[in-house]
Amino acid sequence: MLHSFAGINGHSFTDKSSYLDQLRWYALGDYDLWNMWDNLSRYRFAGGTKSLIEKMHADGDFETRLGTVISKVHQGGDKVTVTTNRGEKIEARSVVVAVPLNCIHDIEFSPSISKIKLDASRRGHTGSGTKVYAQVEGKNPVFMGHGKESMPLCFAWTEYNDARSQVVCGFGLSPSLLDVNDDDEVQAAFNQYMPRLRISESVSYDWNQDPYSKGTWCMYPPGMLTSSLAELQRPEGKIFFAGADIANGWRGFIDGAIESGARTATQIDEYLSVGASE
Ligand SMILES: Cc1cc2nc3c(=O)[nH]c(=O)nc-3n(C[C@H](O)[C@H](O)[C@H](O)COP(=O)(O)OP(=O)(O)OC[C@H]3O[C@@H](n4cnc5c(N)ncnc54)[C@H](O)[C@@H]3O)c2cc1C
Repeated sequence: MLHSFAGINGHSFTDKSSYLDQLRWYALGDYDLWNMWDNLSRYRFAGGTKSLIEKMHADGDFETRLGTVISKVHQGGDKVTVTTNRGEKIEARSVVVAVPLNCIHDIEFSPSISKIKLDASRRGHTGSGTKVYAQVEGKNPVFMGHGKESMPLCFAWTEYNDARSQVVCGFGLSPSLLDVNDDDEVQAAFNQYMPRLRISESVSYDWNQDPYSKGTWCMYPPGMLTSSLAELQRPEGKIFFAGADIANGWRGFIDGAIESGARTATQIDEYLSVGASE
């Protein structure tokens, strides 16, 4: 049970993640495992996660450019110049880098940002497992099951149990244990928990292959919290850093992204009203 829990939290084999960071999750559940799971899964966005960005847009009146990859960030004089991979240059008084931890080192910073930040980014967080949703044929008993780390899914459960249909969900610790695009493998993985369950279709996404995330949710490997977190949060000149992967509390969660964003917004506000004129 413990290995399954710790594996899911770090979304990797348990020897990869920091014990201290595992304890942080436990602390966020008021030192109660069931409370932790309740905190992790009870609240969802009405209207889906997309509704959050729509609300932020309506409130902030800013421009969003999708499909615009930033390859360079240069600070010099009184401005920062950001270069996209299509060569477009954007100038600003300050910049917030809010890319996932695993992607920071893909951006060329001049002058370079600190070695601690770059090393932490290269080392990366542990989140590298699988998550799959599957539509079930007919009705089965509602279930929740924990399994060994080596199983294709070490945690599986009934996510939705509607009047006429069911959706099951499962986490695995590595794409090497389960090809989420192989229907037979997915079927067999759920059948380890529910032998009679039949799946009509499944959906997943391999975040490990996505060059702009290079992993799933963030948990730190041993030593990173004490050696790198404070530095990852530290602004460098006109460049500020934000994102769930460098939050203090719910690091690796949407809540952490909001916490970090709020803190960084305050830093920039202070910088632009005082620091920039110094
Ligand atoms: C499968 C899965 C399930 C999860 N479940 C939950 C959950 O139930 N609850 C929860 O709270 N959290 C969950 N999380 C974690 C949560 O999604 C993240 O912690 C959160 O989205 C991070 O927000 P962020 O704004 O810091 O980073 P992101 O949402 O990752 O945003 C960073 C953005 O930077 C972009 N980017 C990267 N590199 C570049 C570049 N060079 N130039 C321009 N853009 C770039 C990326 O494309 C991305 O859009 C889950 C994550 C995964 C993968």
